[in-house]
Amino acid sequence: MKMIVMKSGLRAVLAGATALAALTLAGCGDSADDTGNGTGGGKLDVVASFYPLEFIARTVGGDAVNVTTLTAPGVEPHDLELTPKQVGEIAEAKLVVFEKELQPAVDEAVEQNAKDAGFDITPAAQLEATGADFEEHEEGAEKAAHKDSALDPHFWLDPVRYAAVVKAVEDKLVSVDGANAAGYHERAKALLEQIGKLDTAYKTGLATCKLKTFVTSHEAFAYLAKRYGLTMVGIAGFTPDAEPAPARIKEVQDIVKAQHVTTIFYEELVSPKVAETIAKDVGVKTAVLSPIEGLSDTNSKETYLTLMQENLQELQKANGCS
Ligand SMILES: [Zn+2]
Repeated sequence: MKMIVMKSGLRAVLAGATALAALTLAGCGDSADDTGNGTGGGKLDVVASFYPLEFIARTVGGDAVNVTTLTAPGVEPHDLELTPKQVGEIAEAKLVVFEKELQPAVDEAVEQNAKDAGFDITPAAQLEATGADFEEHEEGAEKAAHKDSALDPHFWLDPVRYAAVVKAVEDKLVSVDGANAAGYHERAKALLEQIGKLDTAYKTGLATCKLKTFVTSHEAFAYLAKRYGLTMVGIAGFTPDAEPAPARIKEVQDIVKAQHVTTIFYEELVSPKVAETIAKDVGVKTAVLSPIEGLSDTNSKETYLTLMQENLQELQKANGCS
């Protein structure tokens, strides 16, 4: 359904994406005389750990890079396991772009095989422990323990943090492959313009919502909620396949009833069963809000930019934002 419906906002982003593609081609023409220093047919071999980083590497890298992704389409990136072939790709890459602590197997493979080529984006993403803000249902010691624990990995759902990581990857590509610097700068600039537009669209699009609370499968949208003045209620924690406790489901249903939430959001790579159960019990709708953790067969034509735009439209619909 989401694939067929082309709303005007999405069209605008797609038009921008086309302009970006044109720029990408122009950038490649500029560096045609360069042989590169990777092994992928004169291109720089880059490994990206999962989709949001792959999109940056491909878009900023353009024709100067050969990008391999560790998280296959349709696979949920949290707690990814690596094949020996993938460990080999990590060992041979000139640059491995990854997010520390999101995928422990990747951390370990980089530590053992790609110490120099590994590029951890977490300093640029400025991760925080967002869980504490949204765990008001937890009491006393449990809450305190949670507060000091894991940082929220979902930086890419906040366009401002995502832009900071684009800049960092741009700088890294330039330092690894200076011969192609002009192309990297040009393509990064174009992508940053698109992300800037996205930020503006979210700011204006979510400024006048009747309802501030939205309910999601797992707690992926805390940075987004904080950035644009909404409140996320996650059914499960940071990892999507964690089974929510019955008590938590009851709490979420109470919040839905008390605040007149219209929609329970679920995500494309995880079973909608829990969301559907909650929605049915309290008589509200379900809809997809993509955590953009990976593409799958059903949304392989999408990009980070189109999915973010669709998420905005879904939030506006569910929360009565004019
Ligand atoms: Zn997640």
